[in-house]
Amino acid sequence: MNTKTLNDIGEGGIIQLIQEKGLSRLPSRVKKGIGDDCAVLETAGDTLLLVTTDTLIEEIHFTAKTLPPEALGWKALAVNISDIAAMGGTPQTAFLSIGIKPETEVSFIDSFMAGFQALARKTDIVLAGGDTVESPSSAVIAITLLGDCLPERLVYRSGARVGDNIWVTGPLGNAAAGLFLLLNKKASELSGYESLIAAHQKPIPRLKAGKALGKSGLAHAMIDVSDGIAKDLGHICEESRTGALLQATSIPMSDELLRLGPQVEKSPLEWALRGGEDYELLFTASPANEEKVVSLTTKVSGRPASKIGTITQEDGIWLDTDKGKEPLEPGGYVHFSN
Ligand SMILES: [Mg+2]
Repeated sequence: MNTKTLNDIGEGGIIQLIQEKGLSRLPSRVKKGIGDDCAVLETAGDTLLLVTTDTLIEEIHFTAKTLPPEALGWKALAVNISDIAAMGGTPQTAFLSIGIKPETEVSFIDSFMAGFQALARKTDIVLAGGDTVESPSSAVIAITLLGDCLPERLVYRSGARVGDNIWVTGPLGNAAAGLFLLLNKKASELSGYESLIAAHQKPIPRLKAGKALGKSGLAHAMIDVSDGIAKDLGHICEESRTGALLQATSIPMSDELLRLGPQVEKSPLEWALRGGEDYELLFTASPANEEKVVSLTTKVSGRPASKIGTITQEDGIWLDTDKGKEPLEPGGYVHFSN
């Protein structure tokens, strides 16, 4: 009998185990199963159906202190929209399941739904169903989001080519620094960092940029930054069978992040590389299209994407710093690691 625990095999091991119990060959109507930001399914029409699902657990992903109910409603939907954006798709329909303690105040649901619907209205998403159940302790929020995309506009993680530039749509590290401010009593007394806290609590999924990049055909591979670029770029490289070299000096960071770092003896670059939850889009594109990427991203998001590195033949992810080239370890939050 196998007495190993889930802690022993880790999140990757669990996914592998689940995958092994499924079909070894997917039917052709499933264009993409496990292993990208969304599953991709054929429909009877011209468009493909995108499906993504995300679960937030109290005490793991949020506490009452880090995410008040309204922000929780917003963020729970935002992280799913971000996965549809990362494929170049358009979100359409959401299903919301909530597990919650019976003694929770009704105002929790009121505020949660205000946050959820504020973002749903902005993005034309319709809530079409779900489930509500009693939970003995922690609150559990699970959202499934459906979207669509024309086949020629879809961007997978697997399309990066050697020599591609690596781009990111906006500054990195803000969400991690915001979480630090929320959790650290002394740091929480510092003023002027509202934008970092907002980045953690109410991330703005880069839907317009994702759609425009998919439509333009400029992006060869794309993923959203949920676990930190060190890890998320790793997924692109793994699926595309390439490596990557990042330039430390090119990583975009906000003025607030650069100011906070030294005040609390933290490295802004460390937050930017491994912090996660930024929900910017990380994508690769041919160096011949550099100007087109800059003008398109400026047009749709008011700021140009930042070129942060190159896709390489050599395996692994490397960071070029003033001290030379060093391997970039993933870091970030790891589920099932004690
Ligand atoms: Mg994702």
